[in-house]
Amino acid sequence: MQKVLAVAIFFAAIVSGSASLYAQSSAAAPQASNDGSAAHQGPIVVLITIDGFPARALKDPRLPMPTLRMLQANGAYAEAMLPINPTITWPNHTALITGVNASEHHVLFNGLLTFPSDHSIVDVKPWVPKEQLVHARTLYDALAQKGMMTGQVDWVAIFGAKDVRWQFAENPDVDGPVAHDLIAQGLVTHDEIATFGENSSPAWRDQVWTDAAIDILTRHTPNLLLFHLLQTDSLQHQYGALSPAAYAAFGYADASIARLIDAARQAGLLDRITFIVASDHGFASYTHIIRANAALVQQGLLRLQDGSYRGDVWAQPEGGEASLYIRDASKRATLVPKLKAYFEHLPGIAAVYTNEEAQKLGIPSTASTDQAPDLYLAAKPGYAFADGTVEPVEQDVTPARGAHGYLNSDSDMEALFIASGAHIRKGVDLGHITNLQVAPTIAKILGVSLPAAQQQPLTDAMQQ
Ligand SMILES: [Zn+2]
Repeated sequence: MQKVLAVAIFFAAIVSGSASLYAQSSAAAPQASNDGSAAHQGPIVVLITIDGFPARALKDPRLPMPTLRMLQANGAYAEAMLPINPTITWPNHTALITGVNASEHHVLFNGLLTFPSDHSIVDVKPWVPKEQLVHARTLYDALAQKGMMTGQVDWVAIFGAKDVRWQFAENPDVDGPVAHDLIAQGLVTHDEIATFGENSSPAWRDQVWTDAAIDILTRHTPNLLLFHLLQTDSLQHQYGALSPAAYAAFGYADASIARLIDAARQAGLLDRITFIVASDHGFASYTHIIRANAALVQQGLLRLQDGSYRGDVWAQPEGGEASLYIRDASKRATLVPKLKAYFEHLPGIAAVYTNEEAQKLGIPSTASTDQAPDLYLAAKPGYAFADGTVEPVEQDVTPARGAHGYLNSDSDMEALFIASGAHIRKGVDLGHITNLQVAPTIAKILGVSLPAAQQQPLTDAMQQ
């Protein structure tokens, strides 16, 4: 009874407090009218990721995020959450819902790295089936086995996942039930969904994704909702970490979360819901780029042939890191030490790890997956790896831009974690945690198991 009262007071505070600023938008939101498929009882977890939100932004008293502050004050939060390597989006979103790092789940890019048979440039393909990409048991697989439901909005590494009942994807299916709901409510047109990623802004996409999250939560009510807000990443890449543009995006993400909470309150779901707001990685600014593939051209390892570069050695740049692949196995023994020594002496490179050394960072072994690099290059602060085979290898960038991918030991990469609501104690400072603790925590709340999880749940945060 005490717990129910505390939850009621908490959400009353949210609605009567700053979040009432959003009353107008929530009034336009669809009223809950459940379609009969909903989970009618039991706990609900809503996992919201604010892409690229750095833990250090939470220490700024002028952060324009009243809803996040309310959740923090009424729940449990981490001073910082350690992401996994590589500190990029898909690997860390996958860690958040599997509880295992890249050495187990094998997601190293925002998609599957593919190696063309003509030896031209390697390519990251995002829309490959989840079954090919994610080599670990996910929360939604565990839920489906127990007859429970998951919904996802703009989640990643989830394409074609059969165990996710309600979906509104990064590229939404215009014929899907959630798209039909949004069109019927007049929130978006058929054409706007059919051309979702074209000529649209990151803010508009976050707005529609929030409408979709509200629809799934209030009309279909899954046991677990995975909801990814992306504009914060786009604007920090373009304008730099913690830039004025980033703060505008943080404020917009906060308004989106307020809309979702208010809709859940109107639907009478709040006393069942635990909200977890997390980020996948932090962000850092840079003023120099390194084109690792242009360096490989200089070394004679990539050659121009029929108008495009071909070769057995390619680097895949991801901001603070680049993964290097030697496709001809017979050349590895010679090239690994040679290229390690060469890149270690290039300006802007902090360290070069062989695959064996990179395994200590959580990178998989080359014996376990073709996604694992032969060499893993880490940039110095202020530098980022970029695309391109044309010189110069190193170039200044003005004004500064933003990147992630730096080693997870870099405090700029530390991520956000706040949990608040039905199953969470109030006023708990968890200190430093890792994002491998999130999936086992959700599993414990929902009563499912993730036997392979590498760390323990955050029991200090949870109601006994
Ligand atoms: Zn990200």
